[in-house]
Amino acid sequence: DLSERLKQVASFIPKGARLADIGSDHAKLPCYAIEQGLAVTAVAGEVAAGPLAAAEKNIRARGHNGTIRAKLGDGLAVLENENVDTITIAGMGGPLIARILDEGKSLLSGVTKLILQPNVAADHIRVWLYENGWSLAAETIMEEDGHVYEILTAEPGDPDAAYAGRNRDMAMWLGPYLLDEKNNEAFKKKWTKEKEQLTNIKAQLARGEKTPALLEKQKKLDRQLGWLEEA
Ligand code: SAM
Repeated sequence: DLSERLKQVASFIPKGARLADIGSDHAKLPCYAIEQGLAVTAVAGEVAAGPLAAAEKNIRARGHNGTIRAKLGDGLAVLENENVDTITIAGMGGPLIARILDEGKSLLSGVTKLILQPNVAADHIRVWLYENGWSLAAETIMEEDGHVYEILTAEPGDPDAAYAGRNRDMAMWLGPYLLDEKNNEAFKKKWTKEKEQLTNIKAQLARGEKTPALLEKQKKLDRQLGWLEEA
């Protein structure tokens, strides 16, 4: 009963992974990863008591007491005293995922793979990865139940590698690997809708008083609309 979205996230978990799933809710992803023989151990991290209780219940019901540990904690704090090499963070906004990574970056030293699934604003994550010594390794975009989701994976490495030969600001916004998949239906759907919204905002701004802040916004919009045209 796992969503296609979480199955796609799981598809990036390396075999033998020591996983931590941050914001795990019912711990569906770590249960699946163990059952599929992907992860060998997992931590299900949760900041809220209700979802943590749901995770504990699900882990027990599926017989994973010995391999999955549910832990209460904010973001990456649950990595303390754990041996983890792979992290999944799914189903949150890009800015929240970026903040969780930033606040916990001192705990990432043994981690060799990040698998991140922002519901919106993936660009915040790409910028964080770039500025913190992570190399964007792969990206997927998909649609399920009318929502478009992006999945980003990263490994320690050269942050520039994914952006070589590209306009970096444009690629951070749209996804350097996703740009190569521009015939992907989900990509087209997401950015066609975005283009309509940006065009509407542009029309609204055109009616406003020409303050420096407004002119700055207009410049950014024109740049983004140009990128969408190009893509
Ligand atoms: N990861 C699951 C998925 O993709 O279906 C659940 C997503 S659910 C929308 C987000 C979960 O993240 C909630 O259970 C929430 O309590 C948890 N969460 C939010 N902020 C968090 C944080 N700073 N640290 C740990 N968990 C957090």
